[in-house]
Amino acid sequence: NRIHYKEQFMAIERTFSIIKPNAVAQNVIGEIERRFEQAGLTIIAMKMLKLTREEAEGFYAEHKGKPFFAGLIDFMTSGPMIVQVLEGENAIHHNRELMGATDPAKAAPGTIRADFGSHEQVSANAVHGSDSPISAAREIRYFFTEDELFPH
Ligand code: GDP
Ligand code: MG
Repeated sequence: NRIHYKEQFMAIERTFSIIKPNAVAQNVIGEIERRFEQAGLTIIAMKMLKLTREEAEGFYAEHKGKPFFAGLIDFMTSGPMIVQVLEGENAIHHNRELMGATDPAKAAPGTIRADFGSHEQVSANAVHGSDSPISAAREIRYFFTEDELFPH
């Protein structure tokens, strides 16, 4: 069928994305979404929510024990954020390229993190994006049920 054809020959992927609390507070949701859409990524699911500590700790479980973990959880629970699913060709890698490096101070000019991330606080780097197909599947499932996804 059509879905199979796309996945096999065009590598249509889904990735999980967060517009983090600092970017929501800075009123740049629209500017960030515009970049995704102009790059050919389609938003197929989206909601605004504020994480509990338990939810944030579960989401970032792989980083438990690292020196920045407590600060990361403080930051991710500090205000509302946008969680969403982006779909498109090579979406996981494409999104990571648009985001730029983890530390906004080191991210390439023109990337989302360089433009909207905090240069004082690495945690407040404006966006999250899945780093692999396995993470993408886990992270999408963490926030969305199948009937909350609306592929075009
Ligand atoms: P990402 O995949 O680029 O988001 O980076 P990681 O998966 O390594 O880290 C997850 C998140 O933890 C990052 O997006 C940052 O918000 C935060 N983080 C990572 N490294 C550091 C650090 O060295 N210091 C601080 N304060 N936060 C960090
Ligand atoms: Mg990561």
